[in-house]
Amino acid sequence: MQKISAVIFDVDNTLYDFTAFYRPAFEAMLDKISEKSGIDQEQLKKEFRTIHQREGTSEFVFAVQELPSLQKLHPGEDLTELYSDAIYAFRKARKQNLKLYDGVKDTLEKLKDSGTRIIAYTESPGYHAMSRLKQLGLDGLLDCVYSMPDHDMPGQVKREDVRLYDKSNYAFAKTEMRHTTPGVLKPNPETLEGIVEELNIDADEVLYVGDHLMKDVSMAKAMGLHAAHAAYGSYMGDNNYELLKQLTFWTDEMIEKEKQYHDQPQIAPDVTLSKNINELLTHFEFTAYQGTPKDSAKFADSPFCKTTQDTDKPAAKQQSPKTPKR
Ligand SMILES: [Mg+2]
Repeated sequence: MQKISAVIFDVDNTLYDFTAFYRPAFEAMLDKISEKSGIDQEQLKKEFRTIHQREGTSEFVFAVQELPSLQKLHPGEDLTELYSDAIYAFRKARKQNLKLYDGVKDTLEKLKDSGTRIIAYTESPGYHAMSRLKQLGLDGLLDCVYSMPDHDMPGQVKREDVRLYDKSNYAFAKTEMRHTTPGVLKPNPETLEGIVEELNIDADEVLYVGDHLMKDVSMAKAMGLHAAHAAYGSYMGDNNYELLKQLTFWTDEMIEKEKQYHDQPQIAPDVTLSKNINELLTHFEFTAYQGTPKDSAKFADSPFCKTTQDTDKPAAKQQSPKTPKR
């Protein structure tokens, strides 16, 4: 069996089902906004998508206060406060519906016991990625998480104004966090090449695992890595995906390309995980990582903007916020 000493996991729909929590959370928020404002949900969805496209993420904390039809309806008012029940409905549903796939925790623990280095690579903004993985109990189980940096704050809002809890809520206790270059999206291999470079071992010992044939498998195979397809996580054709398509920051062209590739994939994975991530254990021999990870900050061609435990976060504040706390 092929020996593997480092595994790079995609996150959404590989470790947990993103659409399974995003859809109920978004619908709960839309219901509340529409009920209170009387504005049609289809109109609101269009406005959300425009904001998501501008920000390059489908998870923009300040989207509600930037919806044009709400701004028109309530000129000069604090929309976050006015629609706080909608924002809380989103968070509540997200928390209730966020779950690891069966077998993920056990499989990661087995890899950890073997001394294998475990990396997660996501395109979500840093705070969202960190808080989800932490809520799911993966702090410390993952050695390092690569994510986008957090999005910019709108206007005069300062990050410390929306972060009201102890700073431990805004960082992993054990897992290291590294930030990738904004705008460099899968299947562009630039980020993955940097991650492999930082592992500082023979690429033949590296395995990449992801649910998406175009964005994950073809990217990893084009680089010559071993690649496993997390087919159990595929969301194409799923009802949850239909809503995501109406809200995503992806362009229509990207969505169409994704569909075409899904229907006619051009590169095959080495292994297909059809039902459970634990199928990995029957295909590869997981061994101890013997390398010394490179530090992004000292790595001359590093595509990463920051190597950080995010130690610069402000301490907790007491006063009530004008902006959504998270
Ligand atoms: Mg994915």
